Amino acid sequence: MGGEGPITLAELSTMGVERLGRVGPKKIDGLHLMGIDSLADLLFHYPRRYVDRTREARVADLAEGEEALVIGRVRATSTQRTRRGKSMVTVDVHDGSGTLRCTFFNQPWRARQLESARDLEGGDLEVAMFGKVEVFRGRRQMTNPVVDLVGDRTGRIVPIYPQSEKARLTSWELGEWVTQVLHRCRARGLADPVPAEVLARLELTGRAGALAAIHAPESMADAMAARKRLVFDELLRIQLSLVRTKRQIERTAKGIAHAAGDDDGMAPGLVAGFVAGLPYPLTGAQRRAIDEIRADLASGVPMHRLLQGDVGSGKTVVALAALLVAVQGGHQGALMAPTEVLAEQHAAGVRRMLEVVTIEASELNDVANLFGARPVAVALLTNRTPAAERRRLQAGLLDGSVDIVIGTHALIQGTVEFASLGVVVIDEQHRFGVEQRAALRESNSDGTVPDVLVMTATPIPRTAAMTVYGDLDVTVLDEMPPGRQPIGTVAAHTDEDVAAAWVLVRGEVAQGNRAYVVCPLIEGSDKVEAASAEEVYEELAGGELHGLRLGLLHGRMKADEKQAVMEQFRHGTVDVLVATTVIEVGVDVPEATVMVVLDADRFGIAQLHQLRGRVGRGSAPSHCVLVARGDLSPDAQERLAAMVRTTDGFELAEVDLELRGEGTVMGERQKGRSDLRLASLRRDREWVERAREVAFDLVGDGDGLDRYPLLEEEIDVLLAPEDEEFLTKG
Ligand code: ADP
Ligand code: MG
Repeated sequence: MGGEGPITLAELSTMGVERLGRVGPKKIDGLHLMGIDSLADLLFHYPRRYVDRTREARVADLAEGEEALVIGRVRATSTQRTRRGKSMVTVDVHDGSGTLRCTFFNQPWRARQLESARDLEGGDLEVAMFGKVEVFRGRRQMTNPVVDLVGDRTGRIVPIYPQSEKARLTSWELGEWVTQVLHRCRARGLADPVPAEVLARLELTGRAGALAAIHAPESMADAMAARKRLVFDELLRIQLSLVRTKRQIERTAKGIAHAAGDDDGMAPGLVAGFVAGLPYPLTGAQRRAIDEIRADLASGVPMHRLLQGDVGSGKTVVALAALLVAVQGGHQGALMAPTEVLAEQHAAGVRRMLEVVTIEASELNDVANLFGARPVAVALLTNRTPAAERRRLQAGLLDGSVDIVIGTHALIQGTVEFASLGVVVIDEQHRFGVEQRAALRESNSDGTVPDVLVMTATPIPRTAAMTVYGDLDVTVLDEMPPGRQPIGTVAAHTDEDVAAAWVLVRGEVAQGNRAYVVCPLIEGSDKVEAASAEEVYEELAGGELHGLRLGLLHGRMKADEKQAVMEQFRHGTVDVLVATTVIEVGVDVPEATVMVVLDADRFGIAQLHQLRGRVGRGSAPSHCVLVARGDLSPDAQERLAAMVRTTDGFELAEVDLELRGEGTVMGERQKGRSDLRLASLRRDREWVERAREVAFDLVGDGDGLDRYPLLEEEIDVLLAPEDEEFLTKG
């Protein structure tokens, strides 16, 4: 490791593990198998946990019932089967003071693992057993203790590294190589790119010390302090990348400074007329959201805002207010929905809500109408729009006679042109991909870009939002419109429970209400799922729900068939809609008061919450029955219990994060690739916020990172491109 000055992580990431001393090619292959290619990767291969030898107990001193850590050598192992067919591995561990018998049920591989600790050349290696001490016929023993192979490592705190069977590398080998890298770093010193002032303010240790201490701590406190610093580094890199992107977009894109009205409450004109015409007053949260959006729209910096609001919190009104600000200033608005059904539903709803609104002559740019007023022109554009109609629509969008266009992504498939697109609202964005969002940032002919509002009904915890939607500003609708009827939720486990559910459905229908039956989720196959939905439909029609008017809706139906069924359900000529998760988002039929979800244990919390949001939208109390039969996994039980306990989306999101970990918010494919190795969006919440604040400070107006070239280099080199791409996609 030649070179000038302290070595950087970026530099270490260009040095292959081949440069380690005393490591043969087989081992190198093993490292690559584990995804450890560079010396930096090795440093980032953090211990999974530690064996704290200061808490080691002697076998002879163990007392019944206490939890203890014993470290010793394997004497004998044996494998048997219990009478009920379970495997049972018994291991004797000797520590010089006595012998501890450890028994493992259903872990047949333990025999091989622990034998290997005996056979390794150089004599027996130490193993650590942590568990509750039992005494049986005078012999001390543990059942299913936590096992760590300590090997021949000494020191008070022994790091235990994640290992992989395939790679055939032991924890102590990994430890030794890490030590080698640390040792070599010490020669040149390791650069710390985070300004000392920031570290001091946050009471964080230096990077070199932190990396050394996480791998070879003097004490557990030492390891925790190291972890804190390294967690901060991970979060800071991500936030710097996000904030930098955000500032770049803000600086390079030319926005439209909309005439959003004065500051004394509502904008005059269209928005005021619209709000006054609503059959209800806005909630405080809606008012605040509209104010924030209005301020964004009035500024010349393009808006890039996320509106987070639970199902039923009234996002549509906020979206319309934003679109109307655009229209008022002589621009156009676009509302994009994830499916055609939703686009059509939105178009119908929006037209209804805007009936009361007219554009006064003074608000029109358009000379032809100088002496008149006209209604707001709302158009629907989907893949099903006939060609002739599409052409007419396109002409209207170009000459500005269409004010608001509602559609699916067909809207932005390149061909649609606007006179001046001012505001774009994307509803239920988790169904929208990157390209779509990027395409929306394309400019009008005068070089301006539209303001973008992304709406999501998927509540995610605040700090998670800062990470996943870190390039957006966030507004939360944290207040429900008053008078919402509660949704009573129960889990149905037995035949009687399920029979009661059908009685409930019949009862509601008899009172003029409607019901959803959600069919089992079958991952990966639309076709099988559709077939199963048809089956459920037939079964119910001929059985439990015989005599009711049933409709079927699934993803394999043609668009016009779907549309027809939705219409019938909306108008009440269908009482019960048997559907797959196609109804998950946005469908709004206030008369639907009961939902039965079949095989509810197969759904995730977020999805159940979305589904349940389809009921409880009217003036009558609603019900949700979660059918889950058979043996449920502990996770499934917790999910269902949470659903029964609360309808608060944010609370459910927290439970979800708790149960599923980061995968929930970062996406499954992120696993193992992300820069979040140590940091947990759940455990390290406060650090997410601190990192974000620091990132804003450092990036400043956009050029700030120029002053911190090492940090900038680190983001560019260490954040995998997939990560950066993923993060800016949101
Ligand atoms: P979501 O946030 O799920 O998109 P919607 O915008 O569809 O919610 O609104 C859900 C329902 O609540 C609609 O029927 C709407 O008319 C009604 N609503 C919206 N705002 C209010 C309010 N301030 N007071 C009463 N009802 C409201
Ligand atoms: Mg909605």
